[in-house]
Amino acid sequence: MRALVKTSAAPGLELRDVSPPVIGINDVLVRVHRTGICGTDVHIEAWDAWAQRNVAPPLVIGHEFVGTIAEVGSNVTGFAPGAVVSGEGHVVCGRCRHCLAGRRELCAHSIGLGVGRDGAFAEYVALPMTNVWQHGPGIDGDVAAVFDPLGNAVHTALAFDVLGEDVLITGAGPIGLMATAVARHAGARHVVVSEPNAYRRDLAVRMGATLAVDPAGRDLRSVFAELDMVEGFDVAMEMSGNAVALQSALAVMAHGGSVAILGLPTEDVSLDIGEIVLRMLTVRGIYGREMYETWYKMTVMLRSGLDISPAITHRFHFSEYAAAFAAARSGDSGKVIMDWTT
Ligand code: NAD
Ligand code: ZN
Repeated sequence: MRALVKTSAAPGLELRDVSPPVIGINDVLVRVHRTGICGTDVHIEAWDAWAQRNVAPPLVIGHEFVGTIAEVGSNVTGFAPGAVVSGEGHVVCGRCRHCLAGRRELCAHSIGLGVGRDGAFAEYVALPMTNVWQHGPGIDGDVAAVFDPLGNAVHTALAFDVLGEDVLITGAGPIGLMATAVARHAGARHVVVSEPNAYRRDLAVRMGATLAVDPAGRDLRSVFAELDMVEGFDVAMEMSGNAVALQSALAVMAHGGSVAILGLPTEDVSLDIGEIVLRMLTVRGIYGREMYETWYKMTVMLRSGLDISPAITHRFHFSEYAAAFAAARSGDSGKVIMDWTT
């Protein structure tokens, strides 16, 4: 099969012919149709410090996908060839305290598809049946391909009650863009998006942001009067990984506000803990998605009018992977999709 492989401990990727994965008795083999490029894939392609610590080549990369089941292991029940599925990208241990309690998203031993085991940028991907999500009717193919990052957005946006609340989202990358639409769908009063990139600010408005602000050009406090806000934001979602973004978010929270942090900083971040204490903030880290409550919520929200399609901006055939990665890297993009059907 054709697969996009990190072949050696150096920048770049290679499109190679490799053997299709061999499935175990509990596994499902999926014929991949479409994939989404994640920041993680860009890190692995670039072979940055994070990738050097976390990836052992050779590796088929990628974890955002939709496809159809090609084959199921002898122990698999509930799934059959032909079903349209995506995969949860965190393969959990199944044996730790949290896994046994059904809180699989808290597993401390999870292995990332396309990071710690061969992934989905290929014609076929294998994964345990416990990682397979079967789509119901009516889910668009491109949207199904990005259920994994949509899950990050939904898990973060629903971490705190946003109904009637004033919400700040820092960072309008693909996940911040999707979270904008989710917060709007979940009933937020205002969704203010802070993002330095003009292309992404325009997309944020299309996703339903009340205002999209350039943090370099405008103090977030200046939106309060314009939006009839009294004290500050009730809920913030940090989705940039940028230190200044988090620091400025904490400074514009209302007393008792809640801050969900999804962004992964690449450097040390110094925080004013006094601000957290004196404003009595709740700060929560978000990793991955709830298995499978987030997947259920994504499905029913999409079926009841949530539209994230404007966040999907670029589509390529897998043979054009260099152009696809360039688009993802450029910043002037939302989600970038690769097609593996032909
Ligand atoms: P992305 O890098 O495409 O988007 C980040 C955005 O933040 C960019 O558009 C950038 O211009 C913007 N930004 C930079 N400085 C800013 C500032 N000072 N204020 C406001 N915005 C600023 O990333 P993405 O794919 O949308 O992912 C968002 C973040 O979430 C990344 O940090 C990523 O590593 C992290 N992530 C976490 C999880 C998790 O499970 N916790 C999963 C996926 C991604
Ligand atoms: Zn576990």
